[in-house]
Amino acid sequence: MLIDSHAHLEMAEFKRDLEEVIQRAKESGVGYIFTVGTEKKDWRRALEIALSHSSIYAILGVHPHNAKEIDEQTYPVLRELCRHEKVRAYGEIGLDFFRNLSPRDVQLKRFREQIMLAKELRLPIVVHDREAHQETLEVLKSEKAKECGGIIHCFSGDYRMATECIDMGFYISIPGSITFKNAIEFQEIVKRLPLDSLLLETDAPFLTPVPFRGKRNEPSYVRYTAQKVAELKKVSLEKVAHVTTENALRVYRLNRGSPSSMMDLP
Ligand SMILES: [Zn+2]
Ligand SMILES: [Zn+2]
Repeated sequence: MLIDSHAHLEMAEFKRDLEEVIQRAKESGVGYIFTVGTEKKDWRRALEIALSHSSIYAILGVHPHNAKEIDEQTYPVLRELCRHEKVRAYGEIGLDFFRNLSPRDVQLKRFREQIMLAKELRLPIVVHDREAHQETLEVLKSEKAKECGGIIHCFSGDYRMATECIDMGFYISIPGSITFKNAIEFQEIVKRLPLDSLLLETDAPFLTPVPFRGKRNEPSYVRYTAQKVAELKKVSLEKVAHVTTENALRVYRLNRGSPSSMMDLP
């Protein structure tokens, strides 16, 4: 079994054929998918998808792109939605100093606030860091993110950053870009990191792995990422699947085979 620890099934890219996408994931051995609602318009949709599929869970929060949209209603709504047992983490939160869709000072402030909220909700956090490695590390340390732990998704930092995050109780999540020809540096880092600190993700519909690069990504493609990690670490695909699955179940606090609830939305 494989787990896609991070996808965006509520996005418009999946509107037409979501059920087929989920079916293909099942047929490819993807046991669980964690779908991430990154802004207000997507939270309920993400939770609804999770509620109507036993193999899907939700992660909710405000993406750094949307940090400037946070108002006085945001946290009360998230507080309510995140109490649902199908929500297994808080995120994705963090810093994106590449696109800068929200001002940097606003991103920093909202990142800190949301770490506090995640701790209050007793959820691990899913961290988005793009071209803000040093600042991300500083916030994680000063806000004592060790207390909630979580995942650095689509990891793009260096080896030293990875080990610092692992020391703080975080997992490093590997996206499909590990399969790209020019990902040499990233591949070298993954070779050196312990398998028991790694998760696999698609970040679908983005970051499609080879051989489908350029097309829409979907959870069934997480196997290409798994294959690449197996090749880099010179272990079997089964081993990568087994260990990364155990890691994901641990960080998201899921017991294998636990029945998922079909409760109504809060
Ligand atoms: Zn992200
Ligand atoms: Zn994402």
